[in-house]
Amino acid sequence: MNDTVLDLMRTELRGPVIAPGDPEYDGCREIYNAMIDRHPAAMVKCSDAADVMAAVDFVRDHGLELAVRGGGHSGGGLCLVEDAVTIDLTPMRWVRVDPEAKTAWVGGGSQLGDLDHAAHAFGLAIPAGIMSTTGVGGLTLGGGHGYLTRKYGLTIDSLLAADVVLADGSFVTASETEHPDLFWALRGGGGNFGIITAFKFQLHSVHTVGVGITLWPVERTREVLEWYRDFLPQAPEDLNGFFAALTVPPGPPFPEEIHGRKMCGVVWCWTGDLARVDEAIAATAEPGPPTFQFTAPMPYPMLQTMFDELIPKGLQWYWRGDFFDRITDEAIDVHAKFAENLPTPLSTMHLYPVDAAASRVSDDATAWGYRDAVWSGVIGGIDPDPANAEAIKQWAVAYWNELHPYSMGGGYVNFIGENESQDRVRATYRQNYGRLADVKRTYDPKNLFHANQNIQPTV
Ligand SMILES: Cc1cc2nc3c(=O)[nH]c(=O)nc-3n(C[C@H](O)[C@H](O)[C@H](O)COP(=O)(O)OP(=O)(O)OC[C@H]3O[C@@H](n4cnc5c(N)ncnc54)[C@H](O)[C@@H]3O)c2cc1C
Repeated sequence: MNDTVLDLMRTELRGPVIAPGDPEYDGCREIYNAMIDRHPAAMVKCSDAADVMAAVDFVRDHGLELAVRGGGHSGGGLCLVEDAVTIDLTPMRWVRVDPEAKTAWVGGGSQLGDLDHAAHAFGLAIPAGIMSTTGVGGLTLGGGHGYLTRKYGLTIDSLLAADVVLADGSFVTASETEHPDLFWALRGGGGNFGIITAFKFQLHSVHTVGVGITLWPVERTREVLEWYRDFLPQAPEDLNGFFAALTVPPGPPFPEEIHGRKMCGVVWCWTGDLARVDEAIAATAEPGPPTFQFTAPMPYPMLQTMFDELIPKGLQWYWRGDFFDRITDEAIDVHAKFAENLPTPLSTMHLYPVDAAASRVSDDATAWGYRDAVWSGVIGGIDPDPANAEAIKQWAVAYWNELHPYSMGGGYVNFIGENESQDRVRATYRQNYGRLADVKRTYDPKNLFHANQNIQPTV
């Protein structure tokens, strides 16, 4: 972008507009994944829908490249493109709860923690993510799963409406009754259709939940996974438990003797009667007594922040994912092999349940293409040291390559790694891809919004 256009942008937009040479520039282009080091031509801070409309018009009319930043958490750093203009929604962090209707409007740049905090004051919550720093925007538009998913479904299953700035700069509200085709596509189709300046959610009565962590030595991964694959899908919907291969962090609640040990286990969330949390996860003794077990009642936002300090912003990340409707013996062999060889202390593999309430929604009700999946798996190579970037990437890719044949063929769109092929996007949406491409043609025929897991408009 030349200086004349930049000057015009600073004049025409309320901004602030941050560009190379500005003292805030390097700070502003930092995102969650420190492996991403891109230099946008400008970042336009937007505070409301009017700012976003003006920014979209400016970028489109001057033929510039466009990217959109919500929480800045995407693995591939989709919100930053070399030499493009990022429409940065981070000033739009606000939540308005209606406690009587049990709904909330949430600003398009909010983080999960903003919503958790505001809703908790009224004993309310939505199913979304396992870390408070993730953006509501990208997570919701991709589908969103978290601790409350078996009980209340995906995040999109609680979405009631969205305020959207379209590619032509116009503003619409999408819901089941207004622009229903757009509303359908927004629920899973990512940032392909416009910029969401506010989301309206149905909230659920959740205040204090039972939290548990159960760990076994990594050498027992086979027995634990054989038990877990049978136990979890038939467990009550009040019980959520994601499986993890991990290295035990050096701090409470873990006793010193297991610090730094590679282990496997389950992180539990129980939304039933708190007095019965131990009973709910009692069957965990089945694969043999765990090395470590901890249960405690916790306010829901506390659970949501439990891992925030362990994996703060600024680490190197490379991840890949797939959906699974079963965990075969062959898949278990792959998990056992790679769990024993976690390349760095923060690298991990998680299997998040997406069954129960999430699977009762019909396949064509939203853009999410895998209502028959039981788990959304992610393999995450993570480390603070840039020198290990290649090693964590290679481990994640090798693990994924061996596991993929035992998957359903596609993965969660928000777990697609950097530089994965366009085929992976199609595989994510399966039978829904064609309909998404049609909606894209209606709302963004020139593919202005393409810095995402891109759905190309039907020709
Ligand atoms: C530590 C960590 C934990 C995670 N845990 C979970 C989890 O438990 N469950 C889960 O479902 N996902 C999880 N994710 C994945 C997460 O959903 C994605 O990384 C998601 O893309 C984050 O959205 P964001 O807004 O923070 O990211 P950004 O990088 O800002 O945006 C990602 C994409 O969404 C678009 N976008 C964002 N906001 C808007 C908006 N308002 N309007 C239009 N487009 C927008 C961007 O343009 C971009 O294409 C996790 C990610 C991390 C890093």
